[in-house]
Amino acid sequence: MRDLVILGAGTAGTMAANKLRRKLDRNDWRITVVDRDDEHHYQPGYLFVPFGRQDPAGLVRSRHAFLADGVRFVTGEVDEVQAEDSKVRLVGGQELGYDYLVIASGTSPRPSETPGMEGAAWRRSIFDFFTLDGATALREALNGFDHGRLVVHTTDIPIKCPVAPLEFSFLADAWLRDRGLRDRVEMVFATPLPGAFTKPVASSRLGNMLDERKIALEADFLVERIDPETRTLVSYDEREIAFDLLVTVPLNMGADFVARSGLGDELNYVPVDKHTLRSKAHDNVFALGDAADLPTSKAGSVAHFSVEMFVPNFLEHVAGRPMTRSFDGHANCFIESGHDKALLIDFNYDVEPLPGRFPVPRLGPLSLLEETRMNHLGKLAFQWIYWNALLPGRPIPLPTAMSMAGKHLEMQEA
Ligand SMILES: Cc1cc2nc3c(=O)[nH]c(=O)nc-3n(C[C@H](O)[C@H](O)[C@H](O)COP(=O)(O)OP(=O)(O)OC[C@H]3O[C@@H](n4cnc5c(N)ncnc54)[C@H](O)[C@@H]3O)c2cc1C
Repeated sequence: MRDLVILGAGTAGTMAANKLRRKLDRNDWRITVVDRDDEHHYQPGYLFVPFGRQDPAGLVRSRHAFLADGVRFVTGEVDEVQAEDSKVRLVGGQELGYDYLVIASGTSPRPSETPGMEGAAWRRSIFDFFTLDGATALREALNGFDHGRLVVHTTDIPIKCPVAPLEFSFLADAWLRDRGLRDRVEMVFATPLPGAFTKPVASSRLGNMLDERKIALEADFLVERIDPETRTLVSYDEREIAFDLLVTVPLNMGADFVARSGLGDELNYVPVDKHTLRSKAHDNVFALGDAADLPTSKAGSVAHFSVEMFVPNFLEHVAGRPMTRSFDGHANCFIESGHDKALLIDFNYDVEPLPGRFPVPRLGPLSLLEETRMNHLGKLAFQWIYWNALLPGRPIPLPTAMSMAGKHLEMQEA
């Protein structure tokens, strides 16, 4: 009997376990998935909670209910991986040996890494929406906010869903307008990036959308500390941004056990081959989803596409054949823009987000880098797809590898 152990029952770990359970012979393979609790969150839904458009309880379901029969679920906190001995130790001492290990432990916000962020002002004038508790607390704060300076801020990159701070800004702008409060609120978007987004075509489009909404862009802003008394963000180059309400995305970091096990980089992400997701240090270790140091967005879509590619590769590998599939960094993200519209971006390691139609050239029905109601409906529909098709590991009619069909390549070359 061979053992596959998967650390993390989030998007990537659950999908991988379910897809592999169908393919690996139950007489030969035991699959064990470890997570610290039994609550699976649909994280993209956090975005809507502060605006009262999503009931927090509706985003949480039991993890084990989503794991296929024949997958063993262990509830426990991973303490350390002893890769030389192919063993995982859980807090409390339980040990799990493995033949193959998949690290799918994601990334999480760390407000304590920025001086002043988590002190007395935390969840009073400083909020995040990258946790369900944070998004729920922010809902109360927004309801009581009717004038002043709202700053939406990203501490550093990479973060999961790098477009989420933009989405929050667009939704907050629309929400304030609908309440007749927009003239009483000054909005600032502070980012460590040189523009609204990482890649030029999307950055220009999204930067224009900030301008249209009179949201001031403060680019290249790397926060050093927050002064909770004066309600000021202070950057390393000594710029200051005052706020009445700060909505921040704290530094995101991979799991601490990755660092303790000597398996991570400086932000606890596992260095992997970007095409096979195999650890650069250990042949029998792979990292999927946000836990890996892939040079593409940290996103559920990347977890999805990379797992689709990983599964056949893994089957070839354990059968003693070369891995022939190659992950291209495909990411596909909706960007809510307010008033029931959204944009869509589709890109990979080599091709930046470009305008066009998706998934069918000329027909769509989704539009790339363009605000449409259809894109917004696509974003809403994704929650159903997530629980009913993606997590159970059912096929989804979307190309795993990014396609150039329907994209306007001349924009990239311009
Ligand atoms: C506000 C917000 C909006 C988003 N919107 C989108 C979107 O629109 N589109 C999109 O594609 N993506 C979006 N994402 C990102 C998406 O949710 C993540 O990229 C995706 O969930 C990553 O999957 P994962 O399996 O790598 O990590 P996760 O789903 O986070 O799972 C990691 C798991 O590991 C477990 N774990 C970690 N450490 C330990 C330990 N020591 N012991 C035991 N268990 C451990 C955790 O409990 C967790 O269950 C959004 C995220 C946020 C926060």
